Amino acid sequence: MFVRRIAVIGTGYVGLTTGACLASLGHHVVCADVDRSKIEKLREGVMPIMEPGLAELVNEGMAAGRLKFVVGARDAIAPAGACEEDPVEVVFLCVPTPMGEGGAADLAAVEEVAHEVRDLLPRGCVVVNKSTVPVGTAARTKQLLGRRDVAVVSNPEFLREGSAVHDFLNPDRIVVGCDQQDAAERVAALYSRLGAPTLLTDAASSEMVKYAANCFLAMKLSYVNAMAELCERLGADVHEVTEGMGYDRRIGQAFLSPGPGWGGSCLPKDTHALMQISDAAGFDFPLLHASLQTNVAQSARMVDKIRSACGGSLAGKRVGLLGLTFKAGTDDLRDSPALTVAGKLLEEGAELTAFDPGCRASVPGVTDGITVTEDPAVAAKDADVLAVLTEWPEFRALDWPALARVASHRTVVDTRNLLDPDVLRRAGFSWVGVGCR
Ligand code: NAD
Repeated sequence: MFVRRIAVIGTGYVGLTTGACLASLGHHVVCADVDRSKIEKLREGVMPIMEPGLAELVNEGMAAGRLKFVVGARDAIAPAGACEEDPVEVVFLCVPTPMGEGGAADLAAVEEVAHEVRDLLPRGCVVVNKSTVPVGTAARTKQLLGRRDVAVVSNPEFLREGSAVHDFLNPDRIVVGCDQQDAAERVAALYSRLGAPTLLTDAASSEMVKYAANCFLAMKLSYVNAMAELCERLGADVHEVTEGMGYDRRIGQAFLSPGPGWGGSCLPKDTHALMQISDAAGFDFPLLHASLQTNVAQSARMVDKIRSACGGSLAGKRVGLLGLTFKAGTDDLRDSPALTVAGKLLEEGAELTAFDPGCRASVPGVTDGITVTEDPAVAAKDADVLAVLTEWPEFRALDWPALARVASHRTVVDTRNLLDPDVLRRAGFSWVGVGCR
């Protein structure tokens, strides 16, 4: 069953992917955003974010007349003078829920949209919260809407940036939570063509699934990063150790690579939010607290490695950074661990030049103090050390002998264990990894 009109409010990584993918499944979708320039670009087929396969889906959806872009939630729900339009049946909220005061999720955008649309929603319409929100938000949204005839459903999103379209269309599971079974079933039916395992549950449990999953992943990464440190101290190799662990199906190979600390637009804010939620519920969650502490220590350990590769002091040293984004395959710099490390290097007086395939130019207020170059050779020129901070596969294919010729000292600190040490050694570099001999 195709829906004649779905509104998606918030056209960022989640909203744009949701809108384009739902249109590709045959539904009619209107995506709205407060950012006028983003909407204008989208109407011209220009993607505001880097996401494989997204441009194709957006352009196909627009050409088929199933995908439209408008400015503001109001126009997605009740377009002025368009009484011939089908009434909206489902409204997805895909707005930001950043870290607010005391680590809590800031629900201002969700509340703002609820106020904006409450009197515009047609009878019997369903509002779906896809943003990551604390337990109780569906109930609170229902209260804000003040509409007995409108159901509020929780439907958390699990896509990963860099493979958002693939993840949306091939989900491990779909979670839909509502205290009204019929509304949950209507939302689940939107995805029926995907054939994914679907959990229909209550709203509170659905909201909790998202935090439980993200915080578990953060904890897994902190565990591996701590294990890497221990391996280093004891002369074991974390790569061998995690491979041996990962064959155990109860553990799995995913999320077992050490790195400079976890980051991105979700894990840090969601971990802090769950800490705050636990505190508010009077529940002590030391496991989660330790995961956060371990993460802070991890970026400091990476700085220690880079400092010692520079001979003990970073003051006036030139560090070439490979990677700024929080992971490979995205242009997203939000809460990037690469930037955390870079910030600490700057504090100690290092001069930084960075190359990143997803970030080709400086971003004011984000990459301040770092020279961003499109040429890896410029990042390597006269460098005292090169530091790999993001796991872009492109870095493996760099012309390492050419970089060795322009670097001042030939050491690579590989915080992602991305590169082949033998290739680097043949090019004349010494290689320093994480958790290995
Ligand atoms: P984003 O910042 O990329 O996009 C949010 C969009 O909402 C922006 O374009 C912004 O202009 C728009 N917006 C803000 N207020 C608005 C309003 N009042 N009306 C209309 N549009 C408005 O954020 P995102 O990464 O897509 O995340 C959205 C939500 O999804 C967050 O809760 C996040 O935690 C969750 N989430 C994100 C990911 C991810 O990988 N990015 C994955 C799963 C869940």
